[in-house]
Order: sequence, then C-alpha cells, then structure tokens
Amino acid sequence: MKGIIMKILVVNCGSSSLKYQLINMENDEVLCKGLVERIGMQNAVLTHQKPGMDKYIVEQPMETHTTAIQLVLDALTDPEHGVVKNMNEIGAVGHRVLHGGEKFTESCLVDEACKQAIKDCIPLGPLHNPANLMGIEACEKLMPGTPQVAVFDTSNGMAMPPQSYIYPLPYEYYEKYSVRRYGFHGTSHRYIAMRTAAMLGKPLEETTLISCHLGNGASVSAIKNGKCYDTSMGLTPLEGLEMGTRCGIIDPAIIPFIAEKEGLSLKEMDTIMNKKSGLLGVSGVSSDSRDVENAAAEGNKRAQLALDIFQQRVKFYIGAYMAEMNGADAVVFTAGIGENSITSREGICRNMEFLGIKLDPEKNKVRGKEAVISADDSKVKVLLIPTNEELMIAKDTLALVTK
Ligand code: ADP
Repeated sequence: MKGIIMKILVVNCGSSSLKYQLINMENDEVLCKGLVERIGMQNAVLTHQKPGMDKYIVEQPMETHTTAIQLVLDALTDPEHGVVKNMNEIGAVGHRVLHGGEKFTESCLVDEACKQAIKDCIPLGPLHNPANLMGIEACEKLMPGTPQVAVFDTSNGMAMPPQSYIYPLPYEYYEKYSVRRYGFHGTSHRYIAMRTAAMLGKPLEETTLISCHLGNGASVSAIKNGKCYDTSMGLTPLEGLEMGTRCGIIDPAIIPFIAEKEGLSLKEMDTIMNKKSGLLGVSGVSSDSRDVENAAAEGNKRAQLALDIFQQRVKFYIGAYMAEMNGADAVVFTAGIGENSITSREGICRNMEFLGIKLDPEKNKVRGKEAVISADDSKVKVLLIPTNEELMIAKDTLALVTK
C-alpha cells in the first residue's frame, strides 16, 4: 500500500454544521481539524485548525454542504494553513452516519445501495440522515474516485440479542415499522471497548465491560466478549439516562397525562422530552453539567437533585448490565462529563463495593487522559478513556479501503 492512502478525511455532517479531521493513519496523528457552522445561511463560517498555528477563519455565505466541503478542501490544500499539496493525498473519506437501521451490522463502502439504505432510514433519523447523505454526495461530486465509507452510530447495536432489542409492545410494530432498540454512540462504545481490551491486555473477544458515554447526550452500553449486549438508548437517542435536555426513561403513561392536562400535542410533548427536560428541566439552571455542578455547590437544591438523578441512573444501568452479563472486567467513563467530572464519577461509583466496584479517590483526580481510577483491590477495574470517534471512523475506513 502506498503511504499516501494513509491520510483519511473524517466528516461528520449535521443539518447546518460539519466537523472534519484529517488523520495520518501511520501514527493516528490529527493533521488538522475544523468546523463549518451555519451552512445554508448568509453568515456561515469555517474554522480550521492546524496544530501549532492560529485558527484560520473563513466567513462567507455557504448555500449547501457542497459549498462547505469545497471550502474545507480549499483549507486542506491551502499553501499556508493546509496540510496536503493536493486532494490526491487524501486516500479516503469516512463519514459518520447516524442511522443504518437493521441493514448495517458494520461500516460499509459507499455505493448506490448504501446510499439508498441511508435514505430508507430517514424516518428513523430524520434530522441526521439527510445531512449525512448530503455530506457523502458533496464528497462524491468534489472528490470523484476517492473511496468513501459510511460508519453508522447504530451498527454496534446490531449485535444485541433479541431480548435486549425487542420492546414488549405488539410484535407487529417491529415487523411493520422496525420499532426496536438500535442504540447510539456506537462508534464511541466500540472505540472504548477496543481501548479497554488494550489497557487490560486482553483480546477484545474476551473483554466484557460497561461503557458509560456521559456527554450532553449520554448512554451506557453493555459489551460482552467485545460485542454489544445491551445499551440504554433505544429507537431514538431519547431513551435511557437523564441527559442535558433529554428525560431518558420515564413512565410512558406520563406522556398522555401531561399532554391532556396542558393541552399539548404529541409533537410538543416530544419537544419537551428532548429539549426541555434532563439536567435543564430538573435544575432550571442549565443543560451544561458544569453550570449545574456550580449551582449545586452554591446550595441550589434543584441543581443538586438533577445531579443526583443523573448519577443514580448511571448506577441503575451499571447494576442492570452487571446482572445481565454476570459481571464485567471494567466500568469505563468517557465523553465530556465522564472524562472531566471527578464528582460525577465519584458519585456514580459510591456504594458499589457489593458489585466489586471500588474507586480510588486519589486516582480519580484526573481529567481527559487514559487512566485506571479504581482501587488496587477493586474486583472490577474502573477506567477513564477519552473517546475518539473520529479515529474509530478513520480505522474502519482504512480497513475497508485496503481490504
Ligand atoms: P456532546 O458531544 O454530546 O455535545 P460532550 O461529550 O462534549 O457532549 O459533553 C458535554 C458535557 O460535558 C457538558 O455537560 C459539559 O458540562 C461536560 N463537561 C465538559 N468539560 C467538563 C468539566 N471540565 N467538568 C465537568 N463537566 C464537563
């Protein structure tokens, strides 16, 4: 293989934004990264960053994702701010795609069938899949001949056994509308599983762990012998933990109850559960855990309650997954809160000795780097692993284009 294919562009397209990284696969180095915001608006802006250099900012109207990708490619090849001489140096593009439905158990090379399948999954990912597709089509247009790979947030969950993914509703809704648990953050949970195996010095196929991806969106995944066994997000990313603005699991009967009391439509209830609940809804302070932690430290009782609920629910899933898998080698924390909030990790792991989980309070005083944070006599290792979804996407991409 030529060295040149080793540079892989990772693209994560949202409806009005686009994040990218160019990664050198020879040493996993991020050559540059950036973000385009407000695509489709007059005041769109590209912020491009090459390590060791000031941010390069381009402000100009960008009508479509194609214009945005063109600007990204211009930045990548810019004589001063760029990192490649020309686009031929980019060996492949890996795209983050939200929903692959039941069709994709793993990442795939983009072809017409793959694009059609992403289209078919739009009802399941109405906000993300159309944007993901726009990113793919823009790259196809601007980089003809460069292989592209789709990496699905849901493919990890396809390994779950039916008792984990079938909801106890009339079975016909699964058959007719594919209503089932899919799970999300799959790329992150896969990366965490891979790194956990490496840190424990075990083969992935023999590693059993509980991966706690605690960010603004948050999910816990049970990974048995390297494969997803259960996960807290469901048909949509609303199920599971209390999140920044999402309620996670609630009694489903609350929905018609409040809708009737307040005269709200189902759509309005959906907005309340997705945008006005969680840390924000309970604390009334913010969806950002730092703000909520600060308010709680100043004596705000509802802020403290929001944090207590958050921690208890993470405990709930850890306990459930320990029971489902008959234990685990490790419990792993990742994403914004998991990587940075010492007090959250401490609160979650408190009083879990019965399950073999014992945090070392000193080792837990760490942020944003790989570390073992459990006590030496903890039966279950507690790990901190910063997630790296982009690297996982790039690894999948490389594996597929060199197959
Ligand atoms: P997402 O990718 O879902 O938007 P992130 O993984 O970036 O989310 O996580 C965002 C969350 O992480 C926020 O609630 C933020 O407050 C929290 N976070 C980030 N840094 C810290 C920190 N130093 N201490 C506590 N929480 C933090």
